[in-house]
Parts: sequence; structure tokens; C-alpha cells
Amino acid sequence: MINGRCECGRVRYEIGGDIEDLSHCHCSQCRRLHGAAFATFAAVYRDKFRYVSGESDLKVYASSEFNDRVFCAECGSNILVDARQDPDLLYICMGTVDGDPCLSRGISFVCRLEGVVVRNYRRT
Ligand SMILES: [Zn+2]
Ligand SMILES: [Zn+2]
Repeated sequence: MINGRCECGRVRYEIGGDIEDLSHCHCSQCRRLHGAAFATFAAVYRDKFRYVSGESDLKVYASSEFNDRVFCAECGSNILVDARQDPDLLYICMGTVDGDPCLSRGISFVCRLEGVVVRNYRRT
């Protein structure tokens, strides 16, 4: 089980499955929204993700016709991206994950904007 929360603690979630993919996104929207050089996302199956608390504290910003950005209305923590092209997956903002997510398989670091693999490592 992977757990995560926003900074103020109102929004809490859990993931009952593996992380399918990790990516760094360097697009200008992620840079502005996260106030950082890139944002890191964990793709997880939608049916493995659930909110434990704070669902009524969430706000949604449609950053494009494809992506809804979900964040805590109180503290502003970015929680996830709901990408309409991926009906099965949600992209969880890795900065909100607690502890070691115990990745069980190899993970690629991919810049989705450029389509370039920034770094690869395999954990076996
Ligand atoms: Zn919060
Ligand atoms: Zn991006």
C-alpha cells in the first residue's frame, strides 16, 4: 500500500497497486504549477487509487483540453493529473507520496514533452 497526503493533511489517499511508470515532466505548465524545474508523476491504475479523506477539499484546474490538475484548495499541493487520453491511469504527483513507495520493478525517467529518456535504472 502506498500512502500520500497534501501539505496541510486534509487530503489523504492510498494506492493499492504498483506504480506502473514514473516520469519527469518539464513542460511549461508543470514548471509553473509546481514552481520547479520539472514535476514527477507516478502512473497508477485508477481503480487502485482512492481518497482516504479530503475529497471535498479538492479543486480541479483544467490545464488543457486533455488534463485536469487536482490540488488541495487549502494548501495548494498538487495531488494528481487526470489525463483524459488515459482512461485507466491517474498520474500521481510524487512529491505527495509518503515514505519509500517500494517500487518492485524497473522505472524509466522520461521527459514527456521531449520524449527523451533522461535517466534509467532498474531495481531488481
Ligand atoms: Zn492541503
Ligand atoms: Zn507537464
